[in-house]
Amino acid sequence: MADDTFRALVLEQRDEQVTSEIRELRRDELPEGDTLVRVAYSALNYKDGLALTGKNKVVRSYPMVPGIDYSGTIEETTSPEFAPGDRVVLTGWGVGERRWGGYAQLARVRSDWLVRLPESIDLKQAMGLGTAGVTAMLCILALEEHGLTSDKGDVLVTGASGGVGGMAVALLAALGYSVTASTGRADAREYLAYLGAKTVIDRGELTAPGGPLGSARWAGAVDTVGGETLAGVLRTLAYGASVAACGNAGGAEVNTTVLPFILRSVNLLGIDSLATPLTRRRLVWERLAQFMPAEKLDRMMTVVRLAETPALAREILAGRTQGRIVVDVNA
Ligand code: NDP
Repeated sequence: MADDTFRALVLEQRDEQVTSEIRELRRDELPEGDTLVRVAYSALNYKDGLALTGKNKVVRSYPMVPGIDYSGTIEETTSPEFAPGDRVVLTGWGVGERRWGGYAQLARVRSDWLVRLPESIDLKQAMGLGTAGVTAMLCILALEEHGLTSDKGDVLVTGASGGVGGMAVALLAALGYSVTASTGRADAREYLAYLGAKTVIDRGELTAPGGPLGSARWAGAVDTVGGETLAGVLRTLAYGASVAACGNAGGAEVNTTVLPFILRSVNLLGIDSLATPLTRRRLVWERLAQFMPAEKLDRMMTVVRLAETPALAREILAGRTQGRIVVDVNA
């Protein structure tokens, strides 16, 4: 690779079909931005799975370098906030959807989208956490801001064997909560117990037919699944409890009634990590550095090569992956 060039996975759309190819690109082909980042790791999130397979029109223009999050080191910058050599992480902001993302050895970006990594988090761990860790922590912050404390009872996490779900289980357990993990995978029970789940339930329990209110079980909930699952969570929240809704892996439509809201005072808290303001992101990364146990993070991560991502994209959409898939863009 000449100094001026770098490797990237590029998506193209031809005749409504999305194709991917690893190409050598020149630096001057990168989009505008005041900062050039030498990318170390990106990740395969559910949304990257959609982008790589051309589903849900996640990608707005082609050619596109996918990868909605990445970690790396600053190579060049005109920002007074950063200097070459600084270790940074990026999540969200439409990167990998509207702007070129992290499936490349170099990325040019706006410096006010970057967060400086806390000392104790290395570049691989940063992507072990990535968008999933940020989203899980945003959910927990929202629940705590709405009154959740560890003495109130069990906290439910749905889609627990996935990236966001696993992070939520491990972080809630580290913060002293009693966690119930909901999963569709019988083979994930030991993994979820290791992450810190006190109880593991089958996801079918939440979608079983019933009236508009079920038994009040959860002091709080992190829902990464949406659809019927979120409706089931709302029916079974305890009085005054909240659910932080961040995902739609199981569906976007929610068929519910107002009864949980008007008879049990429950709260539906929406979580978006994409456009979270910088000050909140910094708080999130500090809390991730403080509370995520390194050995659990390690167990959640599988590191893969850039060339493996198209096949794994189909796996993540089919719900057949576990934890976080970290992409080594230099392998
Ligand atoms: P993963 O694919 O890693 O996890 C999703 C999990 O949901 C799966 O592991 C599975 O868990 C469960 N699941 C999958 N399909 C179904 C289904 N049909 N019915 C019920 N459960 C299902 O994805 P991520 O963790 O990366 O993302 C989870 C969700 O959160 C996605 O919808 C994603 O778009 C969203 N998200 C939102 C963000 C935000 O800012 N709001 C940021 C990041 C992600 P199990 O097998 O254990 O049941």
